Amino acid sequence: MRVPGIRRLKRTVHRSLRPWRRRRRQRVPGAVILAYHRVASLPLDTCDLATTPERFADHLEVLHDRAEPVSLARCVEGLRSRDLPPRAVAVTFDDGYRDNLLGARPLLEDAKVPATVFVSTGYTGRQEEFWWDALERILMLPGQLPDTLELALPHGSHRWKVPEGSRTPFFWKVHAHLRSLDEGARQEALNQLTRWSGASAVSREHNYPMSESEVRELIRGGLVEVGGHTHRHPVLSSLSREHQRQEIVAGRERLEALTRQKVRFFAYPFGMATDFDRHSVDIVREEGFEAACTIVPGSLDSTNLDPYRLTRYVVRNWTKDEFARELERFFVD
Ligand SMILES: [Zn+2]
Repeated sequence: MRVPGIRRLKRTVHRSLRPWRRRRRQRVPGAVILAYHRVASLPLDTCDLATTPERFADHLEVLHDRAEPVSLARCVEGLRSRDLPPRAVAVTFDDGYRDNLLGARPLLEDAKVPATVFVSTGYTGRQEEFWWDALERILMLPGQLPDTLELALPHGSHRWKVPEGSRTPFFWKVHAHLRSLDEGARQEALNQLTRWSGASAVSREHNYPMSESEVRELIRGGLVEVGGHTHRHPVLSSLSREHQRQEIVAGRERLEALTRQKVRFFAYPFGMATDFDRHSVDIVREEGFEAACTIVPGSLDSTNLDPYRLTRYVVRNWTKDEFARELERFFVD
């Protein structure tokens, strides 16, 4: 084992104290919102969405040791009123996978860490994979694929040579073409792809979203709350203003009917800066949400708070050390 030199040790200590110093100097409450998707051990995770239960438990331990876990509501209120504990961290999940109830909630309860789960209600209760999981089944699972793919899409045909090595870059190229199609065109494309690949058309149960009763179970006890994530998870910026409103409102109304609770928070599907637009932001505000999350990376502070464009850091299947290191980086950024 290499013993770090004294200078390096000093630098490490200095670095680890930097967020504390900076906060003290600025005296501005800062916070970090984490974005998870799934807590599960998956046989295949092309989109890199899952954290294993063991590692998620490790992350929660790090949050207890090195941060102050707060609910998203407490985080937003605290940023507004400039009254937050130092190193406040809110935990969120996107999409509404069943493993949020089965994998994440027991660990959140053990650690007493609150969380917000953004649910796309058009998937709730359907024994159906989200389309990106269906695409994984079609492109990644078959042992052999034809040499070339020709896919007819509404805006024209696309031709790809199927790589002999890793198919992951190929998956992402097709994904990029499917993500902003409307629902019908995307389903048609997935049907074409299934016929072409010879993949099983049977969706995989471990990728199912929660049922309605599972969403109710998730929020029982109040440690976990749900937030809006539209109805069918579209790229909002690809829709007309009216269609955006329908998606956002339908998602909220269904969640409120399901939970008999007011839905206060929203997360833009996909969440990058180009996946929503000023109409999306206006609609979310007009429809009475208190705040909305993006997945544009960044930490938050009270001085330049835009509650309808809250930044978040996406968390991957990191080891305990990796998570601790990333968390430090989030607080410094
Ligand atoms: Zn999502």
